[in-house]
Amino acid sequence: MATLARKLTTTPAGNLYRSFSSRAHKEMARPVRGMKDRFGDDIRRFQWINEKGARLASLYGFDQITTPILEHSNVFERTLGEDSDVVGKELYTFVDKGGDSLTLRPEGTAGITRSLISNNLCQELPRRFYYFGPMFRHERPQKGRLRQFEQFGVEVYGESHPASDVETIELASTFLKSLGLESAALEINSLGDDASRQNYRNALRDYLTTYSSGLSQDSLRRLSINPLRILDSKEPQDIAILGNCPVLSDYLSEFSRQRFAFITEALSSMNIPFTVNPRLVRGLDYYQDTVFEFKVSSTVLGTQQGTVLAGGRYDGLVEKMGGPSGVSSIGWAAGLERLSMLLNEHDVPSLARPVAVIGVADPETASADNAVALSTTLYSHVMAISSSMRQQGIRVEVMYPTSTAGSKNQLKKQLSKATKINASHAVMVGSDEIKMGTSWVRCKDLDTAEQKLCLIDNVIEDLQSLRK
Ligand code: ATP
Ligand code: MG
Repeated sequence: MATLARKLTTTPAGNLYRSFSSRAHKEMARPVRGMKDRFGDDIRRFQWINEKGARLASLYGFDQITTPILEHSNVFERTLGEDSDVVGKELYTFVDKGGDSLTLRPEGTAGITRSLISNNLCQELPRRFYYFGPMFRHERPQKGRLRQFEQFGVEVYGESHPASDVETIELASTFLKSLGLESAALEINSLGDDASRQNYRNALRDYLTTYSSGLSQDSLRRLSINPLRILDSKEPQDIAILGNCPVLSDYLSEFSRQRFAFITEALSSMNIPFTVNPRLVRGLDYYQDTVFEFKVSSTVLGTQQGTVLAGGRYDGLVEKMGGPSGVSSIGWAAGLERLSMLLNEHDVPSLARPVAVIGVADPETASADNAVALSTTLYSHVMAISSSMRQQGIRVEVMYPTSTAGSKNQLKKQLSKATKINASHAVMVGSDEIKMGTSWVRCKDLDTAEQKLCLIDNVIEDLQSLRK
């Protein structure tokens, strides 16, 4: 206290204020680690991916669903698996002012399943939903791995036939192809039903127990609780031990085996290439039977972020969350950051170049007194021209003067603004054109510098034909 008091009296007040404010400002001007601002081409790529997904999913009978970004914490804690990475390490959980424990959603499925139950939609099955939006996981940020990231995903409720697994995978494959990512490789596996998994769990535990001294700390802990999760480990020491472990396919029940055979045969006959990866388990507890991932090997994503889309069947989830029993479900989610980093720029349509509309003030005649009146006439023209072009689907930006009306350099400045925004044309209107009647404008092609006087209706037609 004494030291602080001495400091306060010996330090000039201004300096104290400055050092606090610069530190605070520095912090304020930084986004939270692992979270990003998106604008320009970056956000345009996200929009394009979501639009592609939405259009495609609706052709398969899916409707959009949005659910809150915050859910009661138990929506995730009780469903994703207490021992999963997501619940164990990655949740953003806090107690709100009313004392409720809330969690920022780390994925879409649990919240949408909660919504199905809350809205009594289990009476109206089947239901197909697609969604997109931000998810939150407290992970170590890397290429293609953020703490706030976006997913596009789909969920099908109330269909148990294996053909619906095939259709859901086919939708995923078509979605990736529509983004130009046909190189993404499909890996598929069956986790089997409860009985299959119980048999396998025992065999795997026996095998891993003999190698327990070589396992990572996390895997050792999981050995007694949930040995299947060890198959999903990214630790090299675990991967080495897993090389010779028993495979799930040897423990599938007859029903699960036939179900999986149906799916692989159907995929082959539909010419959807895949490999069966007997070690594919997925990170969340709610999966059973079919699980799948689409992987890309690309240096832009780093070695552990190659999975761009992943999903599976989760028939038990609705009941586990308090809904009726026997509601079969399957879905997948794709990570937009990863997809967007892989996009070929040529595949993303660029924005139409805007047309710049310029009100040309008359420097000779504009006295201080009539400047405002002239501006009113001028800008009502400018607005009328702009809205008429917008109604015809042309992207228009008005180039406002930067200083007082009547400045000699004004037109030059407005034209250079138009070049800066990459406008294709400038459509100019000034007192000369206004005097000639309401329909005349001067049109300049900003690439060729060609100019001509046009009737506004013809200009719109001209511009539209140039856009095609
Ligand atoms: P990973 O093994 O890469 O951690 P995951 O199994 O945890 O992925 P899922 O829960 O299946 O991921 O989510 C589906 C998709 O969402 C992933 O395939 C990936 O494309 C994307 N995704 C998951 N976590 C992140 C993240 N932290 N940042 C960016 N994208 C992510
Ligand atoms: Mg993960």
